[in-house]
Amino acid sequence: MHSKVIIVGSGPAGHTAALYLSRATLEPVMFEGFLANGFAPGGQLTTTTDVENYPGFPDGIMGPEMMEKFRQQSLKFGTKILTETISKVDLFSRPFKLWREGAEDKEPDTADTIIIATGAAAKRLNLPGEDTYWQKGISACAVCDGAVPIFRNKSLAVVGGGDSAAEESLFLTKYASHVYVCVRRDKLRASKVMANRLLSNPKITILWNTVPIECKGDGKLLNNLIIKDTKTNEIKELKVNGLFYAIGHVPATELVKGQLDLDQDGYIITKPDTTYTNIEGVFAAGDVKDKKYRQAITSAGSGCMAALECERWLSERAEE
Ligand code: FAD
Ligand code: NAP
Repeated sequence: MHSKVIIVGSGPAGHTAALYLSRATLEPVMFEGFLANGFAPGGQLTTTTDVENYPGFPDGIMGPEMMEKFRQQSLKFGTKILTETISKVDLFSRPFKLWREGAEDKEPDTADTIIIATGAAAKRLNLPGEDTYWQKGISACAVCDGAVPIFRNKSLAVVGGGDSAAEESLFLTKYASHVYVCVRRDKLRASKVMANRLLSNPKITILWNTVPIECKGDGKLLNNLIIKDTKTNEIKELKVNGLFYAIGHVPATELVKGQLDLDQDGYIITKPDTTYTNIEGVFAAGDVKDKKYRQAITSAGSGCMAALECERWLSERAEE
């Protein structure tokens, strides 16, 4: 199958690109993935409950429902959606080639342009009790979940010592009675300015050389964390009602490694203020190229940019 544009990925970035491209009659084809990168089609928001910070939904909306609405809107304007994962690409010559998972020995699909919107996944510690209390006290996104009632005026813990941990801890102080930051070493990795803000906030206590080792609760909600001193191996309880992971994300870029330019953390590098990658005709949108904001709205925004840039690129080539 040959297409003018193939979108790989089905989160807010991929669907926004699909919406714009299908309305521009470019007949985009989306590979939404079959449990690609551990997510159902629709991406990270299919793993959450209420989304309260996406404009247009004043009462909030459940993540899976929101992504189903994105999908319906893409289909309405003519996007072809295939529930398959792309496992291999050849971006070195045009038309670009893409192979579907399980059909790597068959003829590839081809495309004049590609939008990579494969997203990212937050790192987790996979602690005992984590599955029981995931999204019931445990989260990997303070900005998304910090304001929900179960965390209000409660003691919370953040794990990590980088800029994300600093930013998330400072954000949580708006709602929490106190925030404990578990740092596995005796040093923060965060930038000086963020570290200073963290260290000087009276609502924050840093627990140096500390890692959580078990999550406990009443069966419904988390209310206790077992922590370990990494130097002395001493084990203690930390009575908290929330645990926020801020130990980094992994962008889904295995597919394009060695072909697209990636930064040291594996994110796709795009030209400043655009979605252009180092290969002409290949665009990147969403969390796969954004380690700073990582929100549904910013992903959707860059999906829109990718579609507009892709459309422009195709029409310029058509004129040549
Ligand atoms: P993703 O949502 O990561 O989707 C990428 C999709 O591409 C996935 O479905 C994946 O299966 C698919 N894919 C990957 N590789 C391939 C492949 N090779 N072939 C085909 N398909 C592929 N943000 C907010 O703004 N508000 C919130 O309330 C909020 N809550 C969150 C709660 C949780 C638990 C999490 C984890 C995140 C939350 N976020 C929230 C962040 C938000 O979900 C992300 O910023 C956003 O989903 C990123 O969108 P994306 O389109 O870049 O990719
Ligand atoms: P990061 O810089 O990689 O920091 C991850 C932190 O988590 C480190 O302190 C690390 O400890 C700790 N960690 C990792 N694995 C762990 C484990 N298994 N157990 C306990 N702790 C663990 O990640 P990030 O903070 O998400 O930042 C990613 C990038 O985005 C950085 O470049 C950052 O500057 C940038 N960012 C910037 C801003 C901003 O400018 N406002 C905000 C957020 C992110 P060690 O230090 O011991 O390795």
